[in-house]
Amino acid sequence: SAVPLGGSVIPLVNKLQDIFAQLGSQSTIELPQVAVVGSQSSGKSSVLEALVGRDFLPRGNDICTRRPLVLQLLQTKTDEEYGEFLHLPGKRFYDFSEIRREIQAQTDKEAGGNKGVSDKQIRLKIFSPHVLDITLVDLPVTPANSDLANSDALQIAGIADPDGYRTIGIITKLDIMDRGTDARNLLLGKVIPLRLGYVGVVNRSQEDIMFNRSIKDALVAEEKFFRSRPVYNGLADRCGVPQLAKKLNQILVQHIKAILPGLKSRISSALVSVAKEHASYGEITESKAGQGALLLNILSKYSEAFSSMVEGKNEEMSTS
Ligand code: GDP
Ligand code: MG
Repeated sequence: SAVPLGGSVIPLVNKLQDIFAQLGSQSTIELPQVAVVGSQSSGKSSVLEALVGRDFLPRGNDICTRRPLVLQLLQTKTDEEYGEFLHLPGKRFYDFSEIRREIQAQTDKEAGGNKGVSDKQIRLKIFSPHVLDITLVDLPVTPANSDLANSDALQIAGIADPDGYRTIGIITKLDIMDRGTDARNLLLGKVIPLRLGYVGVVNRSQEDIMFNRSIKDALVAEEKFFRSRPVYNGLADRCGVPQLAKKLNQILVQHIKAILPGLKSRISSALVSVAKEHASYGEITESKAGQGALLLNILSKYSEAFSSMVEGKNEEMSTS
């Protein structure tokens, strides 16, 4: 199963979402979207897959992501895990390799069979008990040099987030760095500082994918990698996909904390107006006569509301 993206906030957010769903769909909590940017084949799709814990994105050492993929994760209460595309409403994909084939087919259809890129989105929902309701965006990016200072990833992130409050640096492929080099200084922010800092990860290599190594096994191997490298000692909070999930979780918690006061006042004012409405219907009584009067009161309020709604509509019509 998946890296518990969101871990501790899942129950809280779900409870709130359930309550809001009962109050009306417009009151749900809007969670932030996570978009990945980086040079071609830097491992963006691999990172997203590791976060979801499932294997379903086209990846490779060639350009694979050629259309933006908006990936909406939706937590389910059942054990069912499946995907559904916006362009194929109602069709449930339980086989995740079939999801990958559909993404490939849709990419070829829009961007051509070769290496064309299109900015037309593919929208995919993943329903799973292991995810937090969050939206991830996988983007195609043109090849760039691997010099971090000149990387288009940081330039793009800088345009979207000039103050750097929403940018996390992810350093991939730590396992295949040149002998004698390591990412310690990068991870410490000594090369380019980032407010939210960096996380180093080791995803599956092309060979791992060819041999069908599972994401679960890859996570175990990643942990072993960091444990066996003395240079990463003491940097445990910046190493590994689970740490990345934890970091995203912390950002989500902060976001939720920031929106809670507004939510609270929205709920209190809704409560006041409902209490007022309730009081206006009068007291509930035991006597038949009292109940009759109450019913009459409710009916007349209903008909008042109905006729003012109809009049309102007529006015709108006559003024337009
Ligand atoms: P994207 O173009 O940024 O989405 O990159 P992909 O996720 O498609 O990965 C490109 C290639 O790099 C694939 O063959 C991956 O298996 C490989 N890859 C990604 N991350 C790592 C990593 O951390 N270590 C190694 N050895 N290979 C990786
Ligand atoms: Mg990709």
